[in-house]
Amino acid sequence: MGFRGRAGFGQGPMVRGGRRSAVERLSPQTREALAAAHGAVTEGRWADAAEAFDKLGGVAQQRQLPRIAAFLYARAATAHGRAGAQPAMLASAEKGLQNAVAARDNGFSARVFGSFLAALKETDFADGEPAIREAMRNALGVAPREPGPRRAPSRDQLRNLPASCEVCGSPLNGDELQVSDEGRADCPTCGSAVL
Ligand SMILES: [Zn+2]
Repeated sequence: MGFRGRAGFGQGPMVRGGRRSAVERLSPQTREALAAAHGAVTEGRWADAAEAFDKLGGVAQQRQLPRIAAFLYARAATAHGRAGAQPAMLASAEKGLQNAVAARDNGFSARVFGSFLAALKETDFADGEPAIREAMRNALGVAPREPGPRRAPSRDQLRNLPASCEVCGSPLNGDELQVSDEGRADCPTCGSAVL
């Protein structure tokens, strides 16, 4: 069984994207489920986390929130990888890629799948990482970039940082936020742009 045998990566049905003017808030039930999914990761319950993130990714996709769907499916893929479930990992990664393409933010795509690939190296599927990386680069049109040493928000950025994520409601802590070279940052809970 191997990734090389898969032809469909990034070739699934188009996901509708586009910019949204108003902030789309997640429902209280979805926020709760999101917190539970991250809780399962913290506790190392990978299969539970994978199932929860897959479900949440589907909710986000259905609501035409491709950026959040991409983030959540990438988390699902990571959890499947840690659980040792390769076909499920590839299926979630593929859904994540489709949504990332629809979200049209190359920096975001590079960060999300760079994190996935970094985690993949710590699983039983580390040998497949180069092939998956290459397929992701082709599907996204941008190379996944693994997170480097943490870069803290500047003083100006901290001033502009809301106390909590407008989409998922989770508190935003400037001391934990990872800022990219371009000065952007994603909500660690839902993947929304917070800087
Ligand atoms: Zn959020």
